[in-house]
Amino acid sequence: MSIEVIQNYGKENIATVFIARTKSGKLIEFVESFQPNLPIEKKWVLVLSVMHGCPVKCLMCDAGQQFGGNLSKEEILAQVDHIVSRRFPDRKIPTDKFKVQFTRMGEPAYNNAVLDVLEELPAQYNAPGLIPSVSTIAPEGRDDFFARLLEIKNKYYKHGKFQMQFSIHTTDFEKRDKLIPIKKWSFEQISEYGEKFFVEGDRKITLNFALMKDYPVEPKVIDEYFDSNKFLVKITPLNPTKKATDNNLISALDSENENSIDKLVEDLRSLGFDVIVSIGELEENQIGSNCGQFVTAITKIQDVQ
Ligand code: SF4
Repeated sequence: MSIEVIQNYGKENIATVFIARTKSGKLIEFVESFQPNLPIEKKWVLVLSVMHGCPVKCLMCDAGQQFGGNLSKEEILAQVDHIVSRRFPDRKIPTDKFKVQFTRMGEPAYNNAVLDVLEELPAQYNAPGLIPSVSTIAPEGRDDFFARLLEIKNKYYKHGKFQMQFSIHTTDFEKRDKLIPIKKWSFEQISEYGEKFFVEGDRKITLNFALMKDYPVEPKVIDEYFDSNKFLVKITPLNPTKKATDNNLISALDSENENSIDKLVEDLRSLGFDVIVSIGELEENQIGSNCGQFVTAITKIQDVQ
């Protein structure tokens, strides 16, 4: 194994965070999570790390506090293997929706090993329900990555077996630059890529907004740039990370009250967009299955020891 799992934490049928050491001696974390009230045969979600930390340093993300390099293909696959072997040692995964998300620590578009993993997953497991999900902030200068990703999706994950997500968080361009402080694709560029990426039968491409106070989401701006036949909008609360607190970022979606954004959802729907409001489990947040929290906490402990 190219990783050694040293700790896990959580609740068996809600979310478990695994902490592992890679050969370099650095720590990573990955997660197994379930949808409440759905058995593993219906839905099973793995959330993988693709880097040690992340160089992007988004204002709301604990993973972005430090960057220690990309993970290799073997190190990413080992995360899947560890979780799968505990439940299905024969590698036959009888789950209708087996989601493998590259969203825990690190920006996938900066690591070509993510593409190698995507090419290899279908051969590694007997998993007819496999649906990989790549979530990106669309960094500039990674056109080759995105071109190859499109080819891989068309080759291995046709007919709705792939979820593409752009995390853009606000329609205010200046504030987007503040939140995600690197050069990124503009909305036009994301839209152009989406036009090429989406083919009939695919899942719509997700535009993800972690809703924050003072970071507007304007339906008319979304409508100006994105085709509602190809893109949908997902709204999530801001995860309760340490960085979010340090940077005074406050969620504009009340985790205990989805109705707090009724007007926004209504306005988007009236423009033709499908809207998913994804609150997540409060308990899951408490377990800490949100981006980069655990390793950051552990690293801090190690730093002071
Ligand atoms: S949100 Fe994603 S891209 Fe931003 S710092 Fe965290 S891991 Fe990196």
